[in-house]
Amino acid sequence: MRRVLVLGGTAEARTLAAALAADPAWRVTSSLAGRTAEPRLPEGEVRSGGFGGAAGLAAWLRAERVDAIVDATHPFAAGISRHAAEASGTAGVPLLALRRPGWSAGPGDRWHSAATLREAAGLLAALGTRALVTTGRQGFAAFAEVELPVVARMVRPPEPPLPRGFRLLLDRGPFTLEGERALLRDHRIDVLVTKDSGGPATAPKLTAAREAGLPVVLVRRPAPPAGVPSVASPEEALSWLAGRA
Ligand code: NAP
Repeated sequence: MRRVLVLGGTAEARTLAAALAADPAWRVTSSLAGRTAEPRLPEGEVRSGGFGGAAGLAAWLRAERVDAIVDATHPFAAGISRHAAEASGTAGVPLLALRRPGWSAGPGDRWHSAATLREAAGLLAALGTRALVTTGRQGFAAFAEVELPVVARMVRPPEPPLPRGFRLLLDRGPFTLEGERALLRDHRIDVLVTKDSGGPATAPKLTAAREAGLPVVLVRRPAPPAGVPSVASPEEALSWLAGRA
Protein backbone atom coordinates (compact mmCIF):
# COMPACT_ATOMS: atom_id res chain seq x y z
CA MET A 1 0.00 0.00 0.00
CA ARG A 2 1.39 3.40 -1.06
CA ARG A 3 0.92 6.58 0.95
CA VAL A 4 -0.46 9.75 -0.61
CA LEU A 5 -0.88 13.20 0.95
CA VAL A 6 -3.70 15.30 -0.50
CA LEU A 7 -3.39 18.99 0.39
CA GLY A 8 -7.06 19.88 0.54
CA GLY A 9 -9.71 22.44 1.37
CA THR A 10 -11.54 22.14 -1.97
CA ALA A 11 -14.35 20.06 -3.47
CA GLU A 12 -11.86 18.50 -5.92
CA ALA A 13 -9.64 17.40 -3.02
CA ARG A 14 -12.64 15.71 -1.35
CA THR A 15 -13.58 13.92 -4.59
CA LEU A 16 -10.01 12.69 -5.00
CA ALA A 17 -9.76 11.59 -1.35
CA ALA A 18 -13.03 9.65 -1.63
CA ALA A 19 -11.75 7.74 -4.69
CA LEU A 20 -8.41 7.00 -3.01
CA ALA A 21 -10.03 5.91 0.26
CA ALA A 22 -11.89 3.26 -1.74
CA ASP A 23 -8.71 2.09 -3.51
CA PRO A 24 -6.74 -0.63 -1.69
CA ALA A 25 -3.55 0.44 -3.49
CA TRP A 26 -3.43 3.72 -1.55
CA ARG A 27 -3.51 4.97 2.01
CA VAL A 28 -4.72 8.56 1.75
CA THR A 29 -4.24 11.38 4.24
CA SER A 30 -5.94 14.70 3.54
CA SER A 31 -4.54 17.85 5.07
CA LEU A 32 -6.65 20.89 5.99
CA ALA A 33 -5.39 24.28 7.13
CA GLY A 34 -7.68 24.02 10.17
CA ARG A 35 -9.12 27.54 10.03
CA THR A 36 -12.79 26.66 9.45
CA ALA A 37 -14.75 25.71 12.58
CA GLU A 38 -16.85 23.03 10.88
CA PRO A 39 -15.00 22.01 7.72
CA ARG A 40 -16.45 19.57 5.21
CA LEU A 41 -14.35 16.53 6.04
CA PRO A 42 -12.90 14.33 3.30
CA GLU A 43 -13.09 10.54 3.45
CA GLY A 44 -10.00 8.70 4.67
CA GLU A 45 -7.52 10.00 7.22
CA VAL A 46 -7.51 13.73 7.91
CA ARG A 47 -4.90 15.91 9.60
CA SER A 48 -5.41 19.55 10.38
CA GLY A 49 -3.21 22.65 10.81
CA GLY A 50 -0.05 24.02 9.21
CA PHE A 51 3.13 21.96 8.88
CA GLY A 52 5.47 24.79 9.85
CA GLY A 53 6.56 25.95 6.40
CA ALA A 54 8.29 24.01 3.64
CA ALA A 55 10.85 22.52 6.04
CA GLY A 56 8.09 21.27 8.36
CA LEU A 57 6.23 19.73 5.45
CA ALA A 58 9.39 18.02 4.17
CA ALA A 59 9.99 16.58 7.66
CA TRP A 60 6.39 15.34 7.80
CA LEU A 61 6.69 13.68 4.37
CA ARG A 62 9.82 11.83 5.49
CA ALA A 63 8.45 10.83 8.91
CA GLU A 64 5.20 9.54 7.41
CA ARG A 65 6.97 7.85 4.47
CA VAL A 66 4.78 9.57 1.90
CA ASP A 67 5.13 8.31 -1.69
CA ALA A 68 3.25 11.08 -3.54
CA ILE A 69 1.64 14.48 -2.90
CA VAL A 70 -1.33 16.00 -4.67
CA ASP A 71 -1.67 19.73 -4.07
CA ALA A 72 -5.43 20.13 -4.48
CA THR A 73 -5.63 23.39 -2.54
CA HIS A 74 -7.56 26.42 -3.75
CA PRO A 75 -5.92 28.22 -6.70
CA PHE A 76 -5.44 31.30 -4.48
CA ALA A 77 -3.73 29.38 -1.66
CA ALA A 78 -0.30 30.34 -3.00
CA GLY A 79 1.69 29.87 0.22
CA ILE A 80 0.98 26.19 0.78
CA SER A 81 1.49 25.46 -2.94
CA ARG A 82 4.92 27.11 -2.81
CA HIS A 83 5.79 25.10 0.30
CA ALA A 84 4.60 21.87 -1.33
CA ALA A 85 6.86 22.49 -4.35
CA GLU A 86 9.86 23.17 -2.12
CA ALA A 87 9.21 20.23 0.22
CA SER A 88 8.68 17.88 -2.72
CA GLY A 89 12.19 18.75 -3.92
CA THR A 90 13.81 18.47 -0.48
CA ALA A 91 12.13 15.20 0.50
CA GLY A 92 12.25 13.69 -3.02
CA VAL A 93 8.49 13.02 -3.09
CA PRO A 94 6.73 13.50 -6.47
CA LEU A 95 4.15 16.31 -6.51
CA LEU A 96 1.15 16.94 -8.75
CA ALA A 97 -1.00 20.08 -8.69
CA LEU A 98 -4.74 19.60 -9.12
CA ARG A 99 -6.19 22.98 -10.14
CA ARG A 100 -9.70 23.46 -11.38
CA PRO A 101 -9.78 25.62 -14.54
CA GLY A 102 -10.53 29.32 -14.19
CA TRP A 103 -13.73 30.86 -15.53
CA SER A 104 -13.96 32.22 -19.10
CA ALA A 105 -16.08 35.16 -20.20
CA GLY A 106 -18.92 34.46 -22.62
CA PRO A 107 -21.23 36.65 -24.69
CA GLY A 108 -22.85 39.34 -22.55
CA ASP A 109 -20.19 39.24 -19.82
CA ARG A 110 -18.70 42.61 -18.80
CA TRP A 111 -15.58 41.43 -17.02
CA HIS A 112 -12.67 43.60 -15.88
CA SER A 113 -9.46 41.86 -14.92
CA ALA A 114 -7.42 42.87 -11.85
CA ALA A 115 -4.04 41.50 -10.78
CA THR A 116 -4.66 42.05 -7.07
CA LEU A 117 -7.45 42.78 -4.58
CA ARG A 118 -6.10 46.33 -4.23
CA GLU A 119 -6.34 46.86 -7.98
CA ALA A 120 -9.89 45.45 -7.93
CA ALA A 121 -10.85 47.88 -5.14
CA GLY A 122 -9.45 50.79 -7.16
CA LEU A 123 -11.66 49.94 -10.16
CA LEU A 124 -14.97 49.99 -8.26
CA ALA A 125 -15.78 53.72 -8.19
CA ALA A 126 -15.70 53.89 -12.00
CA LEU A 127 -17.90 50.82 -12.44
CA GLY A 128 -20.79 51.06 -9.96
CA THR A 129 -22.42 52.52 -6.88
CA ARG A 130 -23.00 49.40 -4.70
CA ALA A 131 -20.56 46.48 -4.73
CA LEU A 132 -20.86 42.82 -3.82
CA VAL A 133 -17.41 41.52 -2.81
CA THR A 134 -16.97 37.73 -2.63
CA THR A 135 -13.18 37.48 -2.43
CA GLY A 136 -13.07 36.10 1.12
CA ARG A 137 -11.81 37.46 4.43
CA GLN A 138 -8.10 37.20 3.60
CA GLY A 139 -6.84 40.47 2.18
CA PHE A 140 -10.23 42.16 2.64
CA ALA A 141 -8.39 45.21 4.06
CA ALA A 142 -7.68 46.06 0.39
CA PHE A 143 -11.29 47.35 0.26
CA ALA A 144 -11.00 49.55 3.38
CA GLU A 145 -10.72 52.81 1.41
CA VAL A 146 -13.61 52.04 -0.98
CA GLU A 147 -16.14 54.90 -0.78
CA LEU A 148 -19.19 53.11 -2.18
CA PRO A 149 -21.31 50.79 -0.02
CA VAL A 150 -19.83 47.27 0.04
CA VAL A 151 -21.79 44.10 0.71
CA ALA A 152 -19.27 41.35 1.53
CA ARG A 153 -20.23 37.70 1.47
CA MET A 154 -17.79 35.34 3.15
CA VAL A 155 -17.54 32.28 5.40
CA ARG A 156 -15.98 34.05 8.39
CA PRO A 157 -15.98 37.77 9.35
CA PRO A 158 -13.01 39.86 8.18
CA GLU A 159 -10.61 41.78 10.44
CA PRO A 160 -10.65 45.59 10.40
CA PRO A 161 -9.94 47.93 8.66
CA LEU A 162 -13.30 47.72 6.89
CA PRO A 163 -14.94 50.02 4.32
CA ARG A 164 -17.20 52.71 5.82
CA GLY A 165 -20.41 51.50 4.15
CA PHE A 166 -19.92 47.83 4.99
CA ARG A 167 -22.49 45.07 5.28
CA LEU A 168 -21.51 41.47 6.08
CA LEU A 169 -23.34 38.36 4.82
CA LEU A 170 -21.99 35.17 6.37
CA ASP A 171 -22.59 32.29 3.98
CA ARG A 172 -20.84 29.37 2.34
CA GLY A 173 -21.36 27.91 -1.16
CA PRO A 174 -22.54 26.16 -3.20
CA PHE A 175 -24.94 28.93 -4.27
CA THR A 176 -27.93 28.68 -6.62
CA LEU A 177 -28.68 30.93 -9.58
CA GLU A 178 -32.05 31.84 -8.07
CA GLY A 179 -30.38 32.79 -4.79
CA GLU A 180 -27.73 34.89 -6.55
CA ARG A 181 -30.34 36.74 -8.62
CA ALA A 182 -32.22 37.57 -5.40
CA LEU A 183 -29.02 38.67 -3.65
CA LEU A 184 -28.11 41.13 -6.43
CA ARG A 185 -31.66 42.44 -6.58
CA ASP A 186 -32.34 42.71 -2.83
CA HIS A 187 -29.08 44.53 -2.13
CA ARG A 188 -29.33 46.68 -5.30
CA ILE A 189 -25.86 45.53 -6.34
CA ASP A 190 -24.51 47.07 -9.54
CA VAL A 191 -20.93 45.74 -9.53
CA LEU A 192 -19.48 42.39 -8.42
CA VAL A 193 -15.93 41.52 -7.31
CA THR A 194 -14.73 37.92 -7.29
CA LYS A 195 -11.53 35.92 -7.48
CA ASP A 196 -11.14 33.69 -10.53
CA SER A 197 -11.70 30.61 -8.37
CA GLY A 198 -13.32 28.58 -11.14
CA GLY A 199 -15.65 25.62 -10.57
CA PRO A 200 -19.43 25.31 -10.50
CA ALA A 201 -20.12 25.92 -6.78
CA THR A 202 -19.69 29.69 -6.92
CA ALA A 203 -20.27 30.33 -10.65
CA PRO A 204 -24.01 31.24 -10.48
CA LYS A 205 -23.13 34.79 -9.32
CA LEU A 206 -21.43 35.32 -12.70
CA THR A 207 -24.54 34.15 -14.56
CA ALA A 208 -26.73 36.39 -12.40
CA ALA A 209 -24.42 39.37 -13.07
CA ARG A 210 -24.50 38.68 -16.83
CA GLU A 211 -28.31 38.47 -16.82
CA ALA A 212 -28.51 41.79 -14.97
CA GLY A 213 -25.93 43.40 -17.29
CA LEU A 214 -23.60 44.12 -14.33
CA PRO A 215 -19.83 44.62 -14.55
CA VAL A 216 -17.67 42.06 -12.77
CA VAL A 217 -14.14 42.62 -11.51
CA LEU A 218 -12.29 39.31 -11.69
CA VAL A 219 -9.08 39.00 -9.68
CA ARG A 220 -6.54 36.91 -11.56
CA ARG A 221 -4.92 33.84 -9.97
CA PRO A 222 -1.45 34.02 -8.47
CA ALA A 223 1.21 32.27 -10.59
CA PRO A 224 1.62 28.61 -9.58
CA PRO A 225 5.09 27.39 -8.58
CA ALA A 226 7.26 26.67 -11.63
CA GLY A 227 8.01 23.12 -12.69
CA VAL A 228 5.10 21.38 -10.94
CA PRO A 229 3.00 19.19 -13.28
CA SER A 230 -0.65 20.16 -13.17
CA VAL A 231 -4.02 18.55 -14.01
CA ALA A 232 -7.53 19.97 -14.00
CA SER A 233 -9.65 17.13 -12.57
CA PRO A 234 -9.61 14.47 -9.84
CA GLU A 235 -9.82 11.79 -12.59
CA GLU A 236 -6.56 13.01 -14.14
CA ALA A 237 -4.95 13.07 -10.70
CA LEU A 238 -5.99 9.43 -10.21
CA SER A 239 -4.35 8.51 -13.56
CA TRP A 240 -1.13 10.27 -12.48
CA LEU A 241 -1.21 8.36 -9.19
CA ALA A 242 -1.91 5.08 -10.96
CA GLY A 243 1.44 5.57 -12.72
CA ARG A 244 3.05 5.64 -9.28
CA ALA A 245 1.16 2.82 -7.54
P1 NAP B 1 -2.10 29.80 2.12
O1 NAP B 1 -2.09 31.27 2.32
O2 NAP B 1 -1.46 29.26 0.91
O3 NAP B 1 -1.44 29.07 3.36
C1 NAP B 1 -1.01 29.71 4.54
C2 NAP B 1 -0.51 28.65 5.50
O4 NAP B 1 -1.61 27.86 5.97
C3 NAP B 1 0.43 27.64 4.86
O5 NAP B 1 1.76 28.14 4.82
C4 NAP B 1 0.24 26.45 5.76
O6 NAP B 1 0.91 26.65 6.99
C5 NAP B 1 -1.23 26.49 6.08
N1 NAP B 1 -2.02 25.70 5.13
C6 NAP B 1 -2.74 26.13 4.07
N2 NAP B 1 -3.41 25.13 3.49
C7 NAP B 1 -3.09 24.02 4.20
C8 NAP B 1 -3.48 22.67 4.10
N3 NAP B 1 -4.33 22.25 3.14
N4 NAP B 1 -2.97 21.79 5.02
C9 NAP B 1 -2.12 22.22 5.99
N5 NAP B 1 -1.73 23.50 6.13
C10 NAP B 1 -2.21 24.38 5.26
O7 NAP B 1 -3.58 29.24 2.18
P2 NAP B 1 -5.00 29.98 2.36
O8 NAP B 1 -5.25 30.80 1.14
O9 NAP B 1 -5.01 30.60 3.72
O10 NAP B 1 -5.96 28.73 2.33
C11 NAP B 1 -6.07 27.88 3.45
C12 NAP B 1 -6.89 26.66 3.06
O11 NAP B 1 -8.19 27.07 2.65
C13 NAP B 1 -6.28 25.86 1.92
O12 NAP B 1 -6.29 24.51 2.29
C14 NAP B 1 -7.19 26.13 0.73
O13 NAP B 1 -7.34 25.00 -0.10
C15 NAP B 1 -8.51 26.52 1.39
N6 NAP B 1 -9.24 27.55 0.64
C16 NAP B 1 -8.62 28.74 0.33
C17 NAP B 1 -9.32 29.70 -0.40
C18 NAP B 1 -8.67 31.00 -0.82
O14 NAP B 1 -9.35 31.82 -1.49
N7 NAP B 1 -7.40 31.25 -0.50
C19 NAP B 1 -10.65 29.44 -0.78
C20 NAP B 1 -11.25 28.21 -0.43
C21 NAP B 1 -10.53 27.29 0.28
P3 NAP B 1 2.39 26.08 7.28
O15 NAP B 1 3.32 26.99 6.53
O16 NAP B 1 2.52 26.16 8.76
O17 NAP B 1 2.44 24.68 6.76
